[in-house]
Amino acid sequence: MHTLPNFYEPIEGMDIVAWQESSEKIEVVAVSSKKTGSCPQCHCSNHKKHSRYVRMLRDLPVSGKQVTLLLQTNKWFCLQSLCHVKIFTERLPGISPSKRNTDRLQLLLQELAFSMSAKAAERCSKAMGIPLSHDAFLYLIRATPESSSKETPFRRNR
Ligand SMILES: [Zn+2]
Repeated sequence: MHTLPNFYEPIEGMDIVAWQESSEKIEVVAVSSKKTGSCPQCHCSNHKKHSRYVRMLRDLPVSGKQVTLLLQTNKWFCLQSLCHVKIFTERLPGISPSKRNTDRLQLLLQELAFSMSAKAAERCSKAMGIPLSHDAFLYLIRATPESSSKETPFRRNR
């Protein structure tokens, strides 16, 4: 097995188990390093492992190459009898539930979206190895909550 390239910074809470690099992309396989879970409802640690599942996420590009992260995380049973949560999925800092991008990639894309026109952002993202269409950038601007939004030409006339 190769050692991990030192230009890729793993997200806290995961262990890299393998990675593969081609001329256009890098695939990183990682597992959650958490040995226990914490129920989001009752915060108890009385639980049992339910299953494992793999999430496929896009991460920050490395040297202009697209990085795909295959992350294996766990589902747990909450065994607290009074808790209404029966099964919960593990949360890792830096990875939002049901998102296709890691938070750090999402922040970078937001930065592009709010810094230039959608057409320019599309070209820029392609050059960086995180290709996104201008429509997707417009969607991203609309989907960004007001609180975290910045001054942007798209919002000025509202
Ligand atoms: Zn619980």
